[in-house]
Amino acid sequence: MIRINNNYLLLQGSYLFAEIAKRFNEYTQKNPSKKVIKLGIGDVTEPLTPAIIKGLEQGVKDMSNIDSFKGYKSDNGYEFLIDKINHLDFKQRGVKLDNNEIFITCGAKEDTANFQELFAENIKIAITDPVYPVYIDSNVMAGRSGNFNNGRYENIVYLDCTADNNFIPEIPKEKVDLIYLCFPNNPTGQTITKSELAKWVKYARENKALILFDAAYEAFIKDDNLPHSIFEIEGAKEVAVEFRSLSKTAGFTGTRLGYTIVPKEVMIYDKNDNKHSLNKLWERRQSTKFNGVSYIIQRGACEVFTENGRKEINKVINFYLENAKIIKDGLTKINIKSSGGINSPYIWLETPNGYSSWDFFTKLLEECQVVGTPGVGFGKCGEGHFRLSAFGDRANIQEAVERLSMLKL
Ligand code: PLP
Repeated sequence: MIRINNNYLLLQGSYLFAEIAKRFNEYTQKNPSKKVIKLGIGDVTEPLTPAIIKGLEQGVKDMSNIDSFKGYKSDNGYEFLIDKINHLDFKQRGVKLDNNEIFITCGAKEDTANFQELFAENIKIAITDPVYPVYIDSNVMAGRSGNFNNGRYENIVYLDCTADNNFIPEIPKEKVDLIYLCFPNNPTGQTITKSELAKWVKYARENKALILFDAAYEAFIKDDNLPHSIFEIEGAKEVAVEFRSLSKTAGFTGTRLGYTIVPKEVMIYDKNDNKHSLNKLWERRQSTKFNGVSYIIQRGACEVFTENGRKEINKVINFYLENAKIIKDGLTKINIKSSGGINSPYIWLETPNGYSSWDFFTKLLEECQVVGTPGVGFGKCGEGHFRLSAFGDRANIQEAVERLSMLKL
């Protein structure tokens, strides 16, 4: 008889976005004439830029010609792309990487979910609360959690991120082996300074732990003092892996391309404490389970790293950041406290008058016809918070803010 992987029975239904959709549908069916504005999604809304489209077209052309046609590309990605990434994202920021430390992949969701495969089942993992749910669910699937009680899994160390610690997790009191960090953060929009990040690097070095650093939103950082990469921190190359993505950087949520940095210095240990190269292990995993990102997409992605392509994507990012400012200013005017939205597309607001996240969702939908994401959907500490996203059409954002100003508080 075919049996289920019992770990899957521990997973909580991905009820958040399904529940939002259900409530949205019920409302629009009852109120067909009302226009609802969605500020809940974490998906981009602006199209790919002309330079990227040109690159993609060139990729298609290359595939039609016998001399430039490409079949399987079994190693980490095309050198023409990796070279550019290495130069622009890392070398220019003072981070020295070899090309074979950069792995081209289909996106950060896949890699942040898959990476845990390389580690023993009984390691202790630490995740922030609130959190991007992929980190936790992929570990639950792999059997690293106990049961789900009171909004949390047993055997997982939760790092609370609340207004009291300015949404920056504190170093855990107990020993952990694998730490997931994400900055700029989804959902809080919070960023981390070099000195705060250095504390995590120090912890990882002292405890032979590993940091999985999700930098999917680094392109939104405009403050020159903030690190774009964990490898800007001294010593991080021995204890960290970094995930990057063109999804939010260049509108690739549907096109799919990410890259993961696994430095050769990172070692992991077997039961006899012998060292193994994480880079080699990841390469081994990828060569067995992954056959590369399409040549056409890599060709298009290459344009993100040209001077012209950079200018174009910066314009789009600035547009989203202006949206974020409009939302943030609108909230300030009605005395709603928020964080994020400055070097990030997400605004994390404190629900007014003690509303629960879901009660505030209902209030916004019914009074303003605006949809956001209840913070509690990202973890227990998200209760009493709400995420608004700056991805969207300018006129809609302005109208949403106008409607928010009418909110009866
Ligand atoms: N990491 C974080 C923190 C995200 O918020 C998202 C998407 O919303 C991803 C990763 C997924 O990125 P990708 O589209 O590259 O899979």
